[in-house]
Amino acid sequence: MSITLTMIKPDAVAAGHTGKIMDMIIQAGFRIQAMKMTRLSKEKAEEFYAIHRERPFFNDLVAFMTEGPIVAAILEKENAVDDFRKLIGATNPEKAEPGTIRKLFAQNIERNAIHGSDSDANAEIEARFFFSGLERF
Ligand code: UDP
Ligand code: MG
Repeated sequence: MSITLTMIKPDAVAAGHTGKIMDMIIQAGFRIQAMKMTRLSKEKAEEFYAIHRERPFFNDLVAFMTEGPIVAAILEKENAVDDFRKLIGATNPEKAEPGTIRKLFAQNIERNAIHGSDSDANAEIEARFFFSGLERF
């Protein structure tokens, strides 16, 4: 078994899509190992997306990710990282496959509804960013 870390982003939480998105995730075979609603501070959002610090979209991304609550979760499944990225679809929803979470719920390349880790190593780093061992089941 492997894990991935997801965030339902502020756009999708505010639009009331949390339940529908979590249902799609569970139906796709992911088990919830941990889950919480929280709101990122500017500092925490900058830390989470530190790899993108030099990109032109960084400041907008941090503003977006701090505008309201998110739902963070650790999801467990065989091949979790790759299977989850298939379920959510391409970063730009215009390029996302039909039926993917981003195709269904994203507004644009920035306000794209959901996050998924990009590697097993980053999944564990991101899981520990949000959750202590006592919060993982
Ligand atoms: N993003 C953006 N503009 C871009 C690329 C990315 O605003 O041109 C945002 C978008 O919210 C994306 C996040 O930055 O989900 C992280 O980018 P990454 O390339 O890691 O995409 P992801 O792994 O989320 O598909
Ligand atoms: Mg990424």
